[in-house]
Amino acid sequence: MPIFRSKHPDISVPEDVTIWEWLFGNNSPRSPLNRFREEDLAGYVDGVTKERVSWKDVKEAATYISTALVKKYGLEPNQTVSLFSRNTIWYPVTLFAAIRVGGVVSGASPAYNVEEMTYALRTAKAKFVATHPTSIKIATQAAKNVGIPKEHIFLLEGQLGDYTNVKDLIEIGKSYGRDKQALPFSIPAGKTNKDVCALLSFSSGTAGLPKAVMIAHQNVIAQALQMEPITPPDHRNVLGVLPMFHITGIVHSMHLPVVLNAEVIMLPSFSMESMLATIVEYQIKELLFVPPILIRLVRDPIVDKYDLSCVKRLSSGAAPISEEILQLLKQKFPGSGFKQGYGMTESCSCITATPLDAYDYKHGHKVGTIVASTEIKLLRDDGTEAPLGEAGELLARGPQIVMGYLDNEKATRDTFDADGFLHTGDQAVIDEAGFVTITDRIKEMIKVKSIGIAPAELEDLLLGHAMVEDCAVRAIPDDRAGERPKAYVVLKGGCGADSAAGLDIMGYVERNKVRDKWIKEVEFVDEIPKSASGKILRRVLRDQARKGARGV
Ligand code: AMP
Repeated sequence: MPIFRSKHPDISVPEDVTIWEWLFGNNSPRSPLNRFREEDLAGYVDGVTKERVSWKDVKEAATYISTALVKKYGLEPNQTVSLFSRNTIWYPVTLFAAIRVGGVVSGASPAYNVEEMTYALRTAKAKFVATHPTSIKIATQAAKNVGIPKEHIFLLEGQLGDYTNVKDLIEIGKSYGRDKQALPFSIPAGKTNKDVCALLSFSSGTAGLPKAVMIAHQNVIAQALQMEPITPPDHRNVLGVLPMFHITGIVHSMHLPVVLNAEVIMLPSFSMESMLATIVEYQIKELLFVPPILIRLVRDPIVDKYDLSCVKRLSSGAAPISEEILQLLKQKFPGSGFKQGYGMTESCSCITATPLDAYDYKHGHKVGTIVASTEIKLLRDDGTEAPLGEAGELLARGPQIVMGYLDNEKATRDTFDADGFLHTGDQAVIDEAGFVTITDRIKEMIKVKSIGIAPAELEDLLLGHAMVEDCAVRAIPDDRAGERPKAYVVLKGGCGADSAAGLDIMGYVERNKVRDKWIKEVEFVDEIPKSASGKILRRVLRDQARKGARGV
């Protein structure tokens, strides 16, 4: 029975500590506060305003904020705080504050509109929202829709009307005095940190609507321990440009840097100019990016205005990267190394990653080797396990594999099998040296700018359009975004399959969903291929397209 195991030495994951105790606890051997002198502590810095908090400041501010949340606003263990904001140094501070007292943090994309945010708050059962002035209107309306009182909406930055901001929370916490700070939450007796949820992130998994993925304290600790030995020691400055709500940001821009004592330079939003200027200013050696940013790096002429000779390594994850872009990167950054990470929200980031001795473009299309203490198997269509060199659906087991989906037993059962293996919905092959290559995506997900979009969400919406009898949505390639959604539509009797109908349907999506979910193309079809149980056969649609289906 071929189960492929990591070749890295096993990691030892503590089972009795929370993320907070592990990173910031007085007695934690892993806390940077107990390993470095105060003046050597790294932290989070705002790349634009230069406001900075060291780990010591993070610990102090998070302690006060959590005290305010508990003592004034009544936050209880296991209650959810939704973070709905662009990147700011106060994002991780507030995240750690909530986690310190047993709260669960749920990140939401700052691009969400009111309906999407309402869905996110409802699904995560949020009781509090921390947001940014740029998102306050949507946050307030969505909070109202789910019955969250206005006093439970906080601002991470800035001032606006009578909203309480993070600095106010710090002052409220301080007012309780040093002796009356809320006590840190401990893992309850009889449980381990594997049983206690710390984060809820959204993912559609292998099928259906976006679901709240329950990430345990142990998952995050384990992933940090798995990444630490394969992170080069010169990774001192981390560019925090990937969104904080996504698992890559959560792990690589928030938690891992604390363990590594590496400075995180946060950028509030993506702009080529500010990103390139920040790379040069902070002499960032390793760029952890997603393919759409790497594409910009080789195609945007603005890049040539900056001296990027400080860049020693480029890293890609969250979506596939093409051989063409790899070759262009190699030319643009001569002498640089290249690495990949592969995983999903349900694996708290990486299942595989390029090992230290293989940062080479010749392995660029491979997603690295299996990270420590992790096993994978590759399942053929008939459910048997594929041997070395043969492709199959990648299943993974390890301490980073999450708890399941909140309030969704069926999806949990379908995705996490009884032996603890996660079904990734990705097809992969492993070679003799242990390198994994992703060969296909079997599941429904569409990766727009490397963020997963659920076809089911768009299909649900399209079925509400007056002309749509039936529909299916799948990914098609896009030069800039990697992929975009395409809709296959069966029109109601009497409706003409012309370009006006196509535009009407596209406009309908544009009015109801954020830009990244907009439909790139509509094709009218006579029927949607379905299985006997009514499941849309998206692969049939894709294979028809490969053969050259008719477009309208
Ligand atoms: P998410 O949960 O948003 O992180 O999406 C996870 C999915 O992104 C995986 O199941 C893959 O389909 C895809 N993915 C992640 N990393 C890679 C990679 N390095 N290469 C190809 N696809 C990837």
